[in-house]
Amino acid sequence: MRDVDAWSMRARSRHLFVAVVVAFSCFSAPGAFGQRRGAASDEQIVQEAQLVTSGARVDLFQHGIAVDQALVTAAESALARMEGLLGWKLDEATLGSRVRIYVSASTTISHVWRGYNHPSDPKAIVFLIPRVADAAVRGTNATYGHELAHLLTWRYASHTLREGLADYLALQLHPGAGVGPSPQGYGSPPSVTLEIEEYLGTTMPPPAAVTANPAFRRAYYFASYRFVRYLIERAGIAVFLKLYDANDPESEFQPLYGASRKELIAAAAK
Ligand SMILES: [Zn+2]
Repeated sequence: MRDVDAWSMRARSRHLFVAVVVAFSCFSAPGAFGQRRGAASDEQIVQEAQLVTSGARVDLFQHGIAVDQALVTAAESALARMEGLLGWKLDEATLGSRVRIYVSASTTISHVWRGYNHPSDPKAIVFLIPRVADAAVRGTNATYGHELAHLLTWRYASHTLREGLADYLALQLHPGAGVGPSPQGYGSPPSVTLEIEEYLGTTMPPPAAVTANPAFRRAYYFASYRFVRYLIERAGIAVFLKLYDANDPESEFQPLYGASRKELIAAAAK
């Protein structure tokens, strides 16, 4: 009897332990990233960070590390150049006129405020990991441009078009540079599976593997970039932005490009 009680107590405490671990993992993972375990939240970083310097449009903050203030110049130049490429300006009516960049020792994946859920609470806030901030000043990593591009194109329907466009704009500024999950750049690109192609240009939310599996993440971002670059080179940025702005981009491929989504994906892969 006592053994049974002892067993059930152990089983119960094991279940409790599992439940606590699961709950902690869920609540400590910010946005759609699952990037941190027990480190400072984005809200904490915003509260605790120190202002390094302010430029005409960008405020630069540091948190737990020292940041080179030259990043402000690089960021402002990137914003202006990407606005020129897009043919539109930062949506100041929604986001405000100032862009805030936080470089934090607690950040493990660079992202914008609320990550993939940014449109639910749009703010002009970017979080960068220290390695990416250092490389931004040297021009060897374009991730800062990728995250700033998300601010300029914050309203999106298709996650793959969003990520592909951010890579495209960032790599226009720094051709051949590392970006996002590919710090070595796209010189030796990963192979793109049929499973990933199913997502391109659709409104499907990103699969869990994008956050859980680094190799899948690299391939998914590269596939998105290659597809967007092909679409922009085929018909120009203005046509692409019509697709990007559409509530249902899948229904716009034929009228805008005279080809189906699948035909365009096949052509982009050649
Ligand atoms: Zn992104």
